[in-house]
Amino acid sequence: MKYYDKLIFECSKEGRKGYSLPDNPYPHAEIPADLCRQDAPVLPQVSEIDVVRHYTNLSQMNFGVDTGFYPLGSCTMKYNPKINEEVASLPGFSGLHPLMDGSLAAGAAAVEEGLKKALSAITGMDSFTLAPCAGAHGELTGLMIMRQYHMDRGDLARTKVIVPDSAHGTNPASAAVCGLEVVQVKSLDNGRIDVEALKPLLGPDIAGIMMTNPNTLGLFETQIEEIASLVHGCGGLLYYDGANMNPLMGMVRPGDMGFDIMHLNLHKTFSTPHGGGGPGSGPVGVAKHLAGCLDKIHVSGFHGNFGVALKAYAYILSLGKEHIRQVGQFSVLSANYIKESLKDVYKLPIPDVCKHEFVFDGLVDDGSSRSEDGHGATTLDVAKRLLDFGFHAPTIYFPLLFHQALMIEPTETESKETIDDFIAVMRQIAAEAAEDPSMLRSAPHNTPIRRPDETTAARQPILRWVKTPLA
Ligand SMILES: *Cc1c(COP(=O)(O)O)cnc(C)c1O
Repeated sequence: MKYYDKLIFECSKEGRKGYSLPDNPYPHAEIPADLCRQDAPVLPQVSEIDVVRHYTNLSQMNFGVDTGFYPLGSCTMKYNPKINEEVASLPGFSGLHPLMDGSLAAGAAAVEEGLKKALSAITGMDSFTLAPCAGAHGELTGLMIMRQYHMDRGDLARTKVIVPDSAHGTNPASAAVCGLEVVQVKSLDNGRIDVEALKPLLGPDIAGIMMTNPNTLGLFETQIEEIASLVHGCGGLLYYDGANMNPLMGMVRPGDMGFDIMHLNLHKTFSTPHGGGGPGSGPVGVAKHLAGCLDKIHVSGFHGNFGVALKAYAYILSLGKEHIRQVGQFSVLSANYIKESLKDVYKLPIPDVCKHEFVFDGLVDDGSSRSEDGHGATTLDVAKRLLDFGFHAPTIYFPLLFHQALMIEPTETESKETIDDFIAVMRQIAAEAAEDPSMLRSAPHNTPIRRPDETTAARQPILRWVKTPLA
């Protein structure tokens, strides 16, 4: 432990102060006794520099895309250019109030219109709403539009929605919240939807299908045109989960594939950092024949998270039509480069060209045959060991189609040098696993916290300082 790792309460010294207040020029006011606290608050008595070091050191115990490579699959943890933050904090925008008269917010309205138009151009959808505040919120909005469409036509029997087994967990959850019954469709061994298994599910009770393409394994659904015509043929609609639009940007459009409704995550693809529960935005776009339904659905007060919309608009305009295409190209190139560079040491269940992400299924040689207890290194051990080298772990144990899933999405913003460093470390970890898996099983060795009980940490977090800090 370094001397400055001491928690701020441990630095406290009676009478020490980190502030000096100006003399109070106002007359003395008596606070009613019943409003006064009985005991003095237990606050650390520290100097300003103690406070600065405390918070700066705390900030560095966390991992973020501004401190290191973050290849978290199905998440698009890419670098978000700082210029977009600057644009979003311009006082003319940040000082707006949602109840302000529209005539005083014409600039903001122009930003919203411009963004909607740009999103339509990128996705091939006719019109957008910016109201939903997250991806899952967008899914719910889109499904409400789907239901509205069937209701408007008096078609009340359509109560089921088809979701592939590889889908992001929010898809079935949103369908359930919307009051729709979820019907699962299987994937083939090649990771694509089994079209033959889809056919018998289609009928007059199907409201639609929720898909993403490329799917959650990073694979392009090559039979998308046939799927679209089958689902439309039975009277259903196609919903597109566009949370991770990176690989398609400027290359292919969901609207052209036959999708009727979709959402985007501005806080993944369009330059708002995410992961810490901060503000998000999940705009929903619809094809022309659904524009009337879009107007009938209201899911949030005012205009959604306007600051996120601003960042997205700044991002799109700064890339421009000619460079937005490179987002798609580079995100796909980076993913395939890593996949091909590591497939001799990590098991690659589906060898096809991938889009923005791909999945390994554990190590080729996990060392179990040589270890004393017969246990090898697992995907969890690989993920933990990566932290020792300053890389964030990939997504692990998702999707559920594989036992040791390790899902990697490098994004387009990393240099070849960074990606090469990552590949070298992944190879070193594979070698360590083969030699001595027990070393991996005790990783990470040099992070502030080693292996917390992740369920307890999420469900019962310790948010207050206690006298015995974590070992
Ligand atoms: C992240 C993600 C979502 C959910 O987005 P939230 O903003 O977290 O609600 C939905 N689908 C996919 C494919 C995603 O990656």
